[in-house]
Amino acid sequence: MNFGLIYGLGLLIIGIVVPVRQNVQDMDFKEKRFKMVAEQIKSRGINDSDVIKAMQIVERHLFVPNYLKKYAYQDRPLPIGHGQTISQPYIVGLMSQLLEVEEGEKLLEIGTGSGYQAAVLGELGGEVYSIEIVKPLQKRAAFVLDSLNYKNVNTRYGDGYIGWPEKAPFDGIIVTCSPTKIPQALIDQLAEGGKLVIPVGLKYVKKLVLLEKKKGKVVQHNVIPVRFVPMVDIDGNLY
Ligand code: SAH
Repeated sequence: MNFGLIYGLGLLIIGIVVPVRQNVQDMDFKEKRFKMVAEQIKSRGINDSDVIKAMQIVERHLFVPNYLKKYAYQDRPLPIGHGQTISQPYIVGLMSQLLEVEEGEKLLEIGTGSGYQAAVLGELGGEVYSIEIVKPLQKRAAFVLDSLNYKNVNTRYGDGYIGWPEKAPFDGIIVTCSPTKIPQALIDQLAEGGKLVIPVGLKYVKKLVLLEKKKGKVVQHNVIPVRFVPMVDIDGNLY
């Protein structure tokens, strides 16, 4: 028996089967992603074409744990470890639309989590700064964002309650964990004309708030009632 030949043939078969299988899976995810955008985003009133396009592009399944990839395009948040979650796609779409991102704007995100929301903001052309208080989550998100080549998305480990003063002011700030009150530091770090999107309120009564800074004054609107993981300090105490 010619082992060299069998070995060579084996490698050839693996070389063909593995990429084909990968390709079929990617196509499958693409189809699911477009369906998600059509059924959960567009049909619920998200009409900003840039947000729609960004959510068609960003591969949400790459931001969730392997065993949950098959659920990545479902209409719900998913666990990402450390008791945290990646937000429901609709909430990501809604919050992104509220920010009205323009190419090159400086954006701050509090709560990097999986890095998915940051990738969507990066796809919208923002210069993104994102802070995460759980170190392993920050490391993993940084790795995923790096591997996808988002050079305009920067993450760091730390407490987002105090914002990122060295990079302020920001044209947009998005908070994906929920404090009981809006942190003053975030309002201070908002540029003139800037927008802050934040879920705020007591444990079970949270609302999504859009705050705009106009001529130095702040104008606030309540958008919808929401559920979010809490904003915490480094010792895990609630803000
Ligand atoms: N935007 C994320 C959703 C993450 S859930 C995504 O797209 O996946 C909210 C995240 O906020 C959690 O990872 C949590 O650890 C983080 N968080 C909570 N309090 C924080 C704080 N004070 N500063 C920064 N991140 C915080």
